[in-house]
Amino acid sequence: MTNLENLPLRPDLAGQVPYGAPQIDVPIRLNVNENTHGISEQVALRIVERIAEAALTLNRYPDREFMELRGMLAEFLGEGLTPEQIWAANGSNEVLQQFFQAFGGPEATALSFDPTYSMYPNISRNTLTPYVSVPREEGFVLTPDFVRTEISKRKPSIVILCGPNNPTGTALSLETVEAAYESFDGMLLIDEAYQEFADGPSALTLLSDRPRLVISRTMSKAFAFAGARVGYMAADPAVVDAMRIVRLPYHLSALTQAAAMAALETSAELLRSVDQIKVQRERIIAGVRKLGLSPYPSEANFVLVDGFENPKEIFEELIGKGIIVRDVGIPGCLRITAGTEAETTRLLGELALLLD
Ligand SMILES: *Cc1c(COP(=O)(O)O)cnc(C)c1O
Repeated sequence: MTNLENLPLRPDLAGQVPYGAPQIDVPIRLNVNENTHGISEQVALRIVERIAEAALTLNRYPDREFMELRGMLAEFLGEGLTPEQIWAANGSNEVLQQFFQAFGGPEATALSFDPTYSMYPNISRNTLTPYVSVPREEGFVLTPDFVRTEISKRKPSIVILCGPNNPTGTALSLETVEAAYESFDGMLLIDEAYQEFADGPSALTLLSDRPRLVISRTMSKAFAFAGARVGYMAADPAVVDAMRIVRLPYHLSALTQAAAMAALETSAELLRSVDQIKVQRERIIAGVRKLGLSPYPSEANFVLVDGFENPKEIFEELIGKGIIVRDVGIPGCLRITAGTEAETTRLLGELALLLD
């Protein structure tokens, strides 16, 4: 046995620690923006059927290009997309990593606007891509003018915009996406992990004639499919070709492909909880405001709540009550996932008692 200091680790990884929210076994888990409504038995059975079929072929490598799944994803997204414009991987984090492997690297620079998804700097680090973060405007918004100015000034090779933004819930307008695209000649990735909960339109509507635009999505949030690990993207077929160069051969297992196709076949059922989750999101916003806290507007399945005198203490006390939320490191704030109606009721009840 040894420890990491004694191994010839890549010098830029010295002192780094693995990323991940605490996985604590409490009854109410509102910390990683999962869909807490779960999967119906009917959907589970369809998944099992598809997986049983795939199991009979496991002696062979899976379809490396997973064209059947890509066809179903194209159809699901609509907008006239073709399978050649779709790519998928084990979670959208892997899509992002492949994107950075293809378009990043030591000669590139990636830019994003903080606070945003904390995996972006990690993926940059892992792919040896220098990363620059620019603080967002007041209220965490991103206006077209601001984004235009910052991108033109810094001339990055990759820009990532998260819309709706994690961890703030802030919407991203198409005007801002267009302004970003026109401000540089590198690759623009829009991370739409939460788009199914948004009121505004998807950046998918901007894809045609924008070969440097990439839209990533995930089945981990609205689809209630986090455990299956399926993320995907839509872009110009040439971008997909770049992803195919860096992907490991057969990266998407036959079982994952089967499960994802079953989920797409039953997507109406799986996505049924989205409206209910949005109702709970608005209940959290109204409820915490009544407690004297300051929630930010959200178009995602979570709410960033400001105004805690001691968020770390509240975080710990909530765990004691069987509820876990997320301390995202923004002063005075906690991020709370919108779960089921019963979970919201418990959360608001316990918060009222703790803040009393
Ligand atoms: C949850 C999340 C993802 C999804 O990650 P998966 O690897 O697909 O589970 C991507 N981007 C953001 C901003 C997220 O919050």
